[in-house]
Amino acid sequence: MIISENSSGKNKSEEQQNIILKGMSLQELQKWAISVGQTRFRGTQLFEWMYREGVDNPTEMTNISKSFRAFLSDNCTFSTLKLKKISKSQTEPTQKFLFQLNDGQFIETVSIIENDRHTVCVSSQIGCNLECDFCATATLGFSRNLSAGEIVDQLIFIRKYIEQPITNIVFMGMGEPFLNYKRVMTAADIFHNPKGFNLASTRITISTGGIVPKIKQFIDENRKYKLAVSLNAPNDEIRSKIMPINNKWQIEEIIKAVKKYSNQKRRKIMFEYVLIKDVNDSSKDAQQLVKLLKNIDCKLNIIPYNEMGGKYQRPDEQTIDNFMQILFSNQGKVRVLTRWSKGQDIDAACGQLATKQMEIE
Ligand code: SAH
Repeated sequence: MIISENSSGKNKSEEQQNIILKGMSLQELQKWAISVGQTRFRGTQLFEWMYREGVDNPTEMTNISKSFRAFLSDNCTFSTLKLKKISKSQTEPTQKFLFQLNDGQFIETVSIIENDRHTVCVSSQIGCNLECDFCATATLGFSRNLSAGEIVDQLIFIRKYIEQPITNIVFMGMGEPFLNYKRVMTAADIFHNPKGFNLASTRITISTGGIVPKIKQFIDENRKYKLAVSLNAPNDEIRSKIMPINNKWQIEEIIKAVKKYSNQKRRKIMFEYVLIKDVNDSSKDAQQLVKLLKNIDCKLNIIPYNEMGGKYQRPDEQTIDNFMQILFSNQGKVRVLTRWSKGQDIDAACGQLATKQMEIE
């Protein structure tokens, strides 16, 4: 049981302090404030204190009445995670944060700084159940969805800890964001809200392994965030081998759904393609990929595989070059980029998040 201190200095058990405000949207906070006899505006103030100011201690919420601050201290939980470890890369300004949640479980978050750009890669679930054969997170299995508060707190912590302002957020940490759709959208809305983190919607990217009904929902709801799909193969045969989710929703369905996204919004969808030796790296694969994407206004990020001691390897340089050459010479509408993952020396790169530190805690 987690024991915390209330305003009168006595210990209070978690059961008594059980209103979790962190993660509530602006509307939810306003409604909640009214339900406890306060004004709607109190809810707005709480939103600003928690998300814009990053304040977790009600006594610091100076524009709120003393009696309500005492009520907040006695009845509400603000903080959803504790820092357990920071791993700093020796080769670049990338840092990985290991957090422990209030139920004792662990998640990881990565901060990547490149010149003026500070990208935070957030986790949306504890573990993942997509079972992609090449990904370290898959080895954890699935434990549970993160709450919106647990997602937002990752950012709040990093914003306090690292001076350089956060410019971009990517839902590319542990988990499948579209299997935790509602909470991920609530968190993204808090990041975007001018009273929250005030980040442009185009600076928030949600990456999915291809949960087609949720891709459709995202488009139908007219969400403004950037959408990325982990394609990782030029055909269903290869994709189903490395991403079992492809047995449920195949490439054609994904392409059909995302075409609607690029057409309707005039925004480019991003495809990620992890290049794995002898799996999806041949000239034929590159040609097939060109054909598959040729009529889609999209970005294609080729990510040379980050090895993790398992059965998969990164292709050699010449194979990567050859693959890229084929893509570059047939680009059409497709904007092709190679993305060398950051933070490999601290297991912070794409697909390497597996909370290994748990074992040495
Ligand atoms: N489940 C979501 C969010 C995770 S994003 C999704 O699949 O999109 C993590 C990205 O890293 C995905 O594009 C995944 O394909 C990629 N990835 C996983 N393991 C990797 C590895 N070892 N090397 C490089 N990229 C990897």
